[in-house]
Amino acid sequence: MARGKFIVGTNFKMNGSKAFLGDLVESLNRADLDINVEIFISPPSVYIDHVRQILRKDIAVGGQNCFYKSSGTYTGEMSAGMLKDVNAEYVILGHTERRTLFKESDTEIGLKVEHALAAGLKVIACIGETLSERESGTTFHVLFRQLQAIVEHVQDWTDVVIAYEPVWAIGTGRVATPEQAQKVHAAIRRRLKETVSESVGERMRIIYGGSVNLGNARDLAKEKDVDGLFVGGASLRPEFVEICNVLR
Ligand code: PGA
Repeated sequence: MARGKFIVGTNFKMNGSKAFLGDLVESLNRADLDINVEIFISPPSVYIDHVRQILRKDIAVGGQNCFYKSSGTYTGEMSAGMLKDVNAEYVILGHTERRTLFKESDTEIGLKVEHALAAGLKVIACIGETLSERESGTTFHVLFRQLQAIVEHVQDWTDVVIAYEPVWAIGTGRVATPEQAQKVHAAIRRRLKETVSESVGERMRIIYGGSVNLGNARDLAKEKDVDGLFVGGASLRPEFVEICNVLR
């Protein structure tokens, strides 16, 4: 069963400016990129519209978050429909920084995934364990709990990508080894086969994020169940273009 293209996506987080993103877009527009890789970039929301207008059309643009209501008295929030309105294709949901700093619960993330899919966005649904959870042997318990909250809110999985992002690897320079990533990705796939269906599990693209850089991207990408890379810090550096071409 075909799994869809390898994906390389960015999480710019709260970084950049109009000028900085303009330069970054220009370098992507000029780059010779592998047509076998699907690429998306996710600027801070205020820049999405601008970036979408200046970026080459074979690269998708995504949001880093959205709320689970379409409109209303939710000061400071944005809906999935609004992201669509400015031609975003993706939205990142459940990132650990949303879960921890902004206290988003598993249920809230499930609701957001449902809302975003209903609005026609593709979702990068993030799950990941902390270092203490890993060290205490609860990695799979935590990941499957986070995954279950998403499973309960999704009917059609076509537009979902799962991002495995071990919290201990995010922004720390301590990347998961290819073997660690493969082991978890395979377990997530097995779990989807058991709790959703064989074909959803088989077809799901599961991407790895957490201290990905040019030095480790190739080895991670070789793993059988690593279907893409989710890049934070390194996506703001020139090496990002080369990470996009990691399959070459
Ligand atoms: P990092 O961030 O690549 O800087 O570790 C990844 C992420 O938070 O998605």
